[in-house]
Amino acid sequence: MRQARHRLTVTVVGAGVIGLWQAYEFARRGHRVLVCEAAPEKATGAASRLAGAMLAPYCEAETAPALVTELGLRSLVHWRELMPTLSTRGTLVVTCRRDEAELFHFARRTTGHLSIGLGDLSALESELSQRFGRALYYGDEGHVPPRLALSLLIDRLRSLGAELRFSQPVSGPLWLAAGAGELVIDCRGMAAQCNLAGLRGVAGEMAVLHAPGVRLSRPIRLLHPRAPVYIVPWGDGTYMVGATMLESAAVGGMSLRSALELLGSATVVHQGFAGAQVVEMSTGIRPAYDDNLPKVVWRGRCLSVNGAYRHGFLLAPALAEMVADHLEMGTVLPPELTEYKRRTGTMA
Ligand SMILES: Cc1cc2nc3c(=O)[nH]c(=O)nc-3n(C[C@H](O)[C@H](O)[C@H](O)COP(=O)(O)OP(=O)(O)OC[C@H]3O[C@@H](n4cnc5c(N)ncnc54)[C@H](O)[C@@H]3O)c2cc1C
Repeated sequence: MRQARHRLTVTVVGAGVIGLWQAYEFARRGHRVLVCEAAPEKATGAASRLAGAMLAPYCEAETAPALVTELGLRSLVHWRELMPTLSTRGTLVVTCRRDEAELFHFARRTTGHLSIGLGDLSALESELSQRFGRALYYGDEGHVPPRLALSLLIDRLRSLGAELRFSQPVSGPLWLAAGAGELVIDCRGMAAQCNLAGLRGVAGEMAVLHAPGVRLSRPIRLLHPRAPVYIVPWGDGTYMVGATMLESAAVGGMSLRSALELLGSATVVHQGFAGAQVVEMSTGIRPAYDDNLPKVVWRGRCLSVNGAYRHGFLLAPALAEMVADHLEMGTVLPPELTEYKRRTGTMA
């Protein structure tokens, strides 16, 4: 890691996955870093705490532009450096026999996979082989337990000498908060909506199940025409089941219909989930722009990094590296990440 020639004073507002990676990248380059977070330490990262935290650059290409795959692959390298024990067992995509056309379409829209039959499937996840005869295997993908990853980033920041202030909301216009020689990076997620034209919320309902009798070691995505679901092992017999995609920024409880669909689909993947204990049911709001790509927006000495949509974990390290390179060396950011394009036009 190169050391900065000019030491900046950087204040990061918001300790979700985007803010913590920004802070970590600047701190490890030798800059002076302060993180201010509205929530207490154990509750940081409004959307980030609820993410499956799949690092799935290939699977996400089914609906995301190529830039997401490119940046996601870069991020995987950084995640591996941060967490050498990171699980990179890949992702399995499965479907019920009657929906096998879905598997074919998913394969056509993505790369980085192998089409596998029963033998390979039972070698990878023996408990799935009674239900599914074939699957797509994305062997280079990974996942992190999100709450552990946020805590690890906080620990690393402290060990690098960064100052972290929790239960400390920053109010007022952030672009007026930075003095000469200082930089503010606004990573407030949905809380910044009032200051960012075009930022919208996409709600995601999720459940956490404790199912010690189920043994799955990698994220499983079930393709289904009405109730697709993914299941992510979070460790210690705990699984995250997610997630709906609702065009809404309203934080509320999970609807009964979503609960039935998500949990019903989980039992389609593995019957053992029928006996699981439901530990948590929550709704997180993904901050997103119209094109579902994050944006880096300047206002005075304040830089906003937001709109990571369903890719905050996948993109946070690459975004942090790009922002730090941009500030230190003047490297140009990809235009897709700096311009907010409405479907009908372009605005700065
Ligand atoms: C159900 C669900 C599943 C997901 N699964 C995945 C996945 O598998 N892979 C993936 O890559 N992404 C996933 N995502 C997306 C990912 O969670 C988001 O993209 C990411 O969390 C956005 O991070 P953020 O740091 O921008 O926002 P947040 O995580 O919301 O963090 C913002 C932080 O700012 C703080 N804050 C707000 N206002 C202030 C203030 N005034 N002063 C100080 N602090 C403030 C908040 O308290 C919060 O800690 C998922 C999201 C959801 C909801």
